[in-house]
Amino acid sequence: MNTPADEYDWPTCAACSRPLWENELGRRACRMCQRRADHDLEALAGPRGLYAALDSALAPGAGSGEARVSGSRSAPLPLRLEPLSLSARGGVVTVLQTWLVDWHDQLQWAHPRWQGDLQQQLDQVVQALRTNLDWAASQHPAFSDFAVEIAALVRSCLRQVTGEKPERRISVECPCGGVLRVTISTPGARCVGCGTQYARADVLELPLATRGMAA
Ligand SMILES: [Zn+2]
Ligand SMILES: [Zn+2]
Repeated sequence: MNTPADEYDWPTCAACSRPLWENELGRRACRMCQRRADHDLEALAGPRGLYAALDSALAPGAGSGEARVSGSRSAPLPLRLEPLSLSARGGVVTVLQTWLVDWHDQLQWAHPRWQGDLQQQLDQVVQALRTNLDWAASQHPAFSDFAVEIAALVRSCLRQVTGEKPERRISVECPCGGVLRVTISTPGARCVGCGTQYARADVLELPLATRGMAA
């Protein structure tokens, strides 16, 4: 098969750098990245979503795999800070609302309004973002930043809720000698040495770096 990429610069997805399918031409991001962002948003919302689950992760010792101490005579530990900073104003809800305000600006719509408590606002903003996700993935100049930020929010929440450690980073080496630090779930990465933009599958095929391995 003739690879169009050999002949001229075939448009790529702004989020994962994969060449766009023919029926995706004209879009900024591929449909796979749009679906991934949609799943991330969906995972945050609702009574069984990750945001709601942060509440139970707020208790000291929760989510970290430590046994809960019951009937302890020592003073209660303070609330764990990280889940609180995710669930409080300024956390997940605010990050999502900031994006929605930006989307409304781009679309020249009136400023969105927030109603109810933080969980209700979270559900509303997620619904609004999902409703307009196809537009954003097709046309928003910063869709890639949005997708990265949403994925990071989901990972942070998951870490709090399940007590998972942050994903391990590995160092791989670009043919130019540059070292890229990536995680297994990276959407793609750019080598700072030579500027090559790697799609996820390609960056994971690079050899492990022999230097810069310190975690
Ligand atoms: Zn993509
Ligand atoms: Zn390079």
